[in-house]
Amino acid sequence: MLAQTAYDELIQKVKEAATLSSVGGLLEWDQQSYMPSGAGKFRADQLSLVAGLSHKKFTDPRIGELLSELEATGLGAAGDTPEAANVRELRHQYDKATKLPGELVSEWARTVSLAQDEWVGARKHNDFKRFLPWLEKVMDLCRRKAQAYGCKSEPYDALLDEYEPGASAAELVETFASLRQDLGVLLEKIRNAPRRPNAGVVERPYDVQLQRVFGESVAAAMGFDFTRGRLDTTTHPFCTGIGPNDVRILTRYNPNRLSDSFFGIMHEAGHALYEMGIEKEANFGAPMGEAASLGVHESQSRMWENLVGRSRPFWKYFFPQAQRLFKDALRGVSLDAFYGAVNDVKPSHIRVEADEGTYNLHIILRFELERALLLGDLKPADVPGEWNARFKKYLGLEVDKDSNGCLQDVHWSAGLVGYFPTYTLGNLYSAQLFQKARKDMPDLDSHFERGEFAPLREWLRDNIHRHGRRYRSGDLCARVTGKPLTHKPFIDYLNSKYAEIYGF
Ligand code: ZN
Repeated sequence: MLAQTAYDELIQKVKEAATLSSVGGLLEWDQQSYMPSGAGKFRADQLSLVAGLSHKKFTDPRIGELLSELEATGLGAAGDTPEAANVRELRHQYDKATKLPGELVSEWARTVSLAQDEWVGARKHNDFKRFLPWLEKVMDLCRRKAQAYGCKSEPYDALLDEYEPGASAAELVETFASLRQDLGVLLEKIRNAPRRPNAGVVERPYDVQLQRVFGESVAAAMGFDFTRGRLDTTTHPFCTGIGPNDVRILTRYNPNRLSDSFFGIMHEAGHALYEMGIEKEANFGAPMGEAASLGVHESQSRMWENLVGRSRPFWKYFFPQAQRLFKDALRGVSLDAFYGAVNDVKPSHIRVEADEGTYNLHIILRFELERALLLGDLKPADVPGEWNARFKKYLGLEVDKDSNGCLQDVHWSAGLVGYFPTYTLGNLYSAQLFQKARKDMPDLDSHFERGEFAPLREWLRDNIHRHGRRYRSGDLCARVTGKPLTHKPFIDYLNSKYAEIYGF
């Protein structure tokens, strides 16, 4: 009885902290969509006040006392009841949050905010020297943060844990080495293939209003609930779960290419279905109301974007609709030509525009460099040289300028070291989970051909979404698929798709 009272008080307290930070989430969403550009400075004041208050609430010593009280009853040690999972994961989060000294938290917030501004300018003017002092400052802060968290093996693990709880750099090194090797073999086959698709059919004028109509229709078909979420436009697409029954997705429309917004919407709607499938009303603020990890989150978006959205059965249903909407652009284009075009593989400089075959090489490169930076094996000043050399080695391209190279992504200026690997983990999880979904539902393709996506969505809800953070990502994967994560399902998937398209 006593334990139940303590548990209820704990959940009430973390819910308040999360409610406060959800206000920050709404402010950020507004900043990226509707806020007038002149309001930036006041918005930063609003955001930092809310973040400070929410951090204070979450690190309230009373939360520590309640956790200890509950742990003394044996709760949290093991077991996968929602209560045990909540206590276990809250202990993990609370200990991390309270290990960070207040002055480090505020120095961090100030530095990454300024560093991001400098990065925007440095990228625009292709000026790495301008960004260098900020990269040095951010890396120094990352090291101090990792030190404050403490780590058993190497500092990278402490930062990675924020995004992928329980993962380690050592495991990533191993997985990424075999992935890189197999991708190299695959890309070689594609380079020497007897035929290649013509990507030009998706790179034509596509009316933006019609792109929006088409994008909304695919989101609705996937099961995105427009009474619990909305779709808006932005310069940097993302998805944010504000709270129970409120999920926002953002996209951008390219008037000369259909695929940016279309697959972008599928991607963000995939994230949104995860947020909508977590039982938030009952669990908001507690780990059971959160995603398992960023890797698992990305597995949901990439599955819808790629394994579903770039499949032939999907386009059997959607291509006739696309042809009706975009009469000029798609006149005389066959389903095969269109399907090939959305699966074109070609090494390119920019990660966010990379195809499924080359994307993960971009990530492996970033992981290697940021790990070396954190260990002190690579000096920030040497980043452009090292980036360009590896880019040539992995993707076979020269980097013409730093804005097409080491200055292209916001992450390092934002202090998001340890974040990149979750993109690749997401790709690998997506393939392994999808393989199992197919096994459980052998008629999945015929559902897609008829525009029926509920069977897959419900499978994901049942196996992934509703569990929130009950299981760590690795355990969740093993539980659902019966095997620990490997890169094999992903490589098998790419090989069979590309063999058919490229004829190798
Ligand atoms: Zn994503």
